[in-house]
Amino acid sequence: MKRIDCDVLVIGSGPGGAMTACLAAEAGRDVLVLEEGAHHPIDSAPSFSLAEMDQKYRNAGLNVTFGGTSITYLEGRCVGGGSEINAALYHRPLEKTLREWQTQTRIRGFEPEQLWPHFEAVERDCNVNLVPGGNGPACDLLKRGAGSMGWSTREIARFWSYPAEAPQTGLLTGRQSMTVTLIPRAMRAGARLMPNTRVVKLLREGKRVLGAVAETTEGGARHERIELRAKSVFVCAGAVQTPRLLRRAGFTHNVGDTLQLHPMIRITARFKEPFNDLAWGVPTEQVDQFKPGLTLGCSYSSIPHLALWMGAELGDKKQRLRDWRRTGIFYVAAVGTGKGKIRDLPLVGEPFIRLPLTQADLDRLGEGLLRLGQLLFAAGAEELSSPVEGGPGIRSANDLEALCKALPQGKMPVSTIHLFSSAPMGEDEATTATDSFGKLRGVENLYVNDASLFPASPAVNPQGTVLAIARRNVGEFLG
Ligand SMILES: Cc1cc2nc3c(=O)[nH]c(=O)nc-3n(C[C@H](O)[C@H](O)[C@H](O)COP(=O)(O)OP(=O)(O)OC[C@H]3O[C@@H](n4cnc5c(N)ncnc54)[C@H](O)[C@@H]3O)c2cc1C
Repeated sequence: MKRIDCDVLVIGSGPGGAMTACLAAEAGRDVLVLEEGAHHPIDSAPSFSLAEMDQKYRNAGLNVTFGGTSITYLEGRCVGGGSEINAALYHRPLEKTLREWQTQTRIRGFEPEQLWPHFEAVERDCNVNLVPGGNGPACDLLKRGAGSMGWSTREIARFWSYPAEAPQTGLLTGRQSMTVTLIPRAMRAGARLMPNTRVVKLLREGKRVLGAVAETTEGGARHERIELRAKSVFVCAGAVQTPRLLRRAGFTHNVGDTLQLHPMIRITARFKEPFNDLAWGVPTEQVDQFKPGLTLGCSYSSIPHLALWMGAELGDKKQRLRDWRRTGIFYVAAVGTGKGKIRDLPLVGEPFIRLPLTQADLDRLGEGLLRLGQLLFAAGAEELSSPVEGGPGIRSANDLEALCKALPQGKMPVSTIHLFSSAPMGEDEATTATDSFGKLRGVENLYVNDASLFPASPAVNPQGTVLAIARRNVGEFLG
């Protein structure tokens, strides 16, 4: 078997891995990054297109958890991970959330004042910006509906850059993903990147890891096996794949037992007047009123996405899709309360996840849907698609009320794009997998540095927090 040596081995090149690789390489370490997915330039497929799903999503987006309600989860599988495909919305978490995490798992060195400089650096280095000159007609509609209900909304900044001379031309093309920001920086500092290379196992010897064994995966097929040897190993494969790799190597203490997520329900709404203008990209306004438990907003609403979320009940789908300029996809995202178990299945390429959608989750989603419906009708909606598969279209907030009081388990298309907390960090040995800086307990040189580390939900879009915590932790590692 071919063997490659390095100082720091980084498994996964999403936000957590890219930050780790970048700072370690800039500190003069010999860094090797292994990434299961391919290395595509950011403009290799139109943003939010089906071609992009095919190229950059794990299993083209077809992954599910099991439980009373199956939850479809989406993840990036390409150099840059989720940052290449996401809406790029950026938040700092609430100070209250950070303090709750700090006490929940007893994290050292986690005062908000110690964390804000890392968020500031992320905002600077990854170009976090508001849309210059207003954020478009779908956002105006959301603001109008919330305004009539007396609810607050907020424009969310994005990892995005807008050309100074013609900002609006950058609305679809200015994404500041990892392949645009931290990965080129890591490579300029000497990091080596191996795309299409999937780690299949960690090599373990007593209290140390020696490195890993990987397979090259060009074109989906398995090819050569390579042995990687390293002084330190960072597992940054995301909240599902990181615990899978750790458990495979026998590291099971609080690993893969507490996966959490933000369950989402999407519905479509048709209005009298056109408002859906794809040139504006993902609408960046969110309803603030019910945070942290609930977030309401609008998704990118191209025809294929509309067809996906319209629901089977709308018989006259073709006609409705012709009306796409008057129709949009709107979402409710909740802070989930269920905890999922991730288990590696021998000989199967993907892990098995059992995660309950709890009654509290159903109640919260029901409340969110009712609020969303009220807002949309207040903004002038004519009809909403049913959140329940096969249900009839909804023509008034009253129609929605009875349904939302008791959302039926197993009958709604629930999905998620935010997964975390599968190997939490902190000093509380009874509930955490790693110490306060991501070092796996009981091993001298193995670290986790991705969304798995969150003790609980950040209650906002997570990428900014993944980056800031990864920056903090790799800084501690580098001394
Ligand atoms: C469609 C979508 C929209 C989203 N929108 C937003 C948003 O607007 N704002 C926001 O803040 N967050 C958003 N998110 C979530 C955000 O993208 C994630 O929280 C973030 O990417 C997590 O970073 P990570 O480093 O933990 O893992 P990931 O980004 O998942 O990166 C892990 C990487 O590791 C690789 N990998 C996995 N296993 C192996 C292996 N065995 N060997 C080698 N490589 C491996 C994967 O291919 C992947 O590239 C969205 C996510 C999706 C999918």
